[in-house]
Order: sequence, then structure tokens, then C-alpha cells
Amino acid sequence: MAETVKIKTRNLSFSYNGKRILRNTSIDFAENKIAAIVGPSGSGKSTFLLTLNRLWESIPNCNLEGRVEMKFGNTFHDIYQKKYPVTRLRRQVGMVFQAPNPLPMSIYKNVVFPLELAGRKDGEDARIMVEQCLKKVGLWGEVCDRLDTSALSLSGGQQQRLCIARAMMLQPEVLLLDEPTSSLDHKAAAAIEELLVDLKGQCTVLVVSHYLDQVQRIADSIVELQDGDMKGRSLVFAA
Ligand code: ADP
Repeated sequence: MAETVKIKTRNLSFSYNGKRILRNTSIDFAENKIAAIVGPSGSGKSTFLLTLNRLWESIPNCNLEGRVEMKFGNTFHDIYQKKYPVTRLRRQVGMVFQAPNPLPMSIYKNVVFPLELAGRKDGEDARIMVEQCLKKVGLWGEVCDRLDTSALSLSGGQQQRLCIARAMMLQPEVLLLDEPTSSLDHKAAAAIEELLVDLKGQCTVLVVSHYLDQVQRIADSIVELQDGDMKGRSLVFAA
């Protein structure tokens, strides 16, 4: 069956202070699959992710040209069109960073935070969603009796799963992860990998990784960033 495209970039170029990082990149990503983005350090992998949620816009002296379109509902939307609200985009596109970044507040408050930010009340519905998201990331059993304790008391792997739970609270259609396991030990990394494979089907996952073995285990497709352009390859090792 043909894959449905979720994200397409067209002639996407990006520079910091006049230095070109991405050059005329045109690439498609399939819906509800895991795509791994690989390439040498400094080749622009993290930058590419930032172009997909407009997070670079607060960095001075950057320039973006070209288009990024995402399919929400049955329509492709140009996310850089002036009338496309960035607040909506941030709900639709979640992001998880390399180092876990829980807020200095309780486990519960961390997970419910995006909901409050979106103007929704913390109540029974929110509590149920927190529980569901913590279950999705396999953390509920480990934290259900200490939701009021600080998230900073969790291990690195638990903190990263908490951050993914937080990103899942607004039910994003796209999840961007920038080397999500690089600060974790082997066991914690394996739990995150398993989780990403579980999320597939509900969410389009783009993950930057420099671990070839990880890419082989979890990705449906791989794109390589080289000299500012992206080359897609099918995975000969995909099951
Ligand atoms: P990768 O994720 O592949 O390691 P990055 O996207 O982090 O690459 O960086 C690509 C290039 O852009 C690097 O040369 C880096 O130094 C530069 N860069 C990244 N962030 C900024 C920034 N905020 N300001 C200026 N240059 C940056």
C-alpha cells in the first residue's frame, strides 16, 4: 500500500548569520512512521528539526527560504504562511531534546503543564490524560505513588520518558526527537526505543540519531544530511 505523506519540504534553505546550513532541500516524510535523520556532527540535523516547528524564529540573524508543508486533516498547510498560528503548530508538532529537560516542579505538574499552557483547566479530565500519557511511556507504574514529588528526583531515563509523556499531552501528530537517548545508559535507551516504536501508528516520528544500530532497530526510513541537502534512502534492513 502506498504511504501517505505527512511532511514535505520544498526548496528549503536555512542560514545562521549568512552561513548556509540547508540548501534547497526537498524531501517527504511518511505519516505514522519513524524516519531517522543521520549525518555528520554539525551537518544541520538539529537545525532541520527546528525548521519543522518554527522554533528557530527566536534565534537572531537566521533566514529561511522555501516551504514546509504538513498534512493536518486532509489538507496540506504551509506552516510558514502568515495566517498559520504558531500556537496551533506547537500543539501539532511536539519536540523532545537531547538532554531531558523536566521543569523544576512535580512529576504531575510537568506532564499537565502543556495542557495548562493551552488554556485548559487542571481537573479530572487532565488527571486521566496525565495517567494515560505516563502509561504510554511506561512510567506510570514507577511514579503513580509519588506524582507530587519533584521530577528532578527521577533518573535520566525516567526524566526523558517524562519529557516524552509531556510532549504527548497535546496529542501531537508529529513528534521530533533530537538524539533522545544520547545522555542515557543502555537500558534507559532501550526503553525509549521501544516507546518510539509503540508510538508509531499514532504519530509521525522524526528522530535524529547518530547510533547506526539504533537506526537499524527502530527506523522505517533514513535520510542523510550531507552538504546541506538531504538524501532519502529506504532501509534495506527494515523488517
Ligand atoms: P547537527 O545537529 O547536525 O550537529 P546543527 O544543526 O546543530 O548540526 O548545527 C549546524 C551548523 O549550524 C553548525 O555549524 C553549528 O555550529 C551552526 N549553528 C547551530 N546553531 C546555531 C546558532 N544558534 N547560531 C549560529 N550557528 C548555529
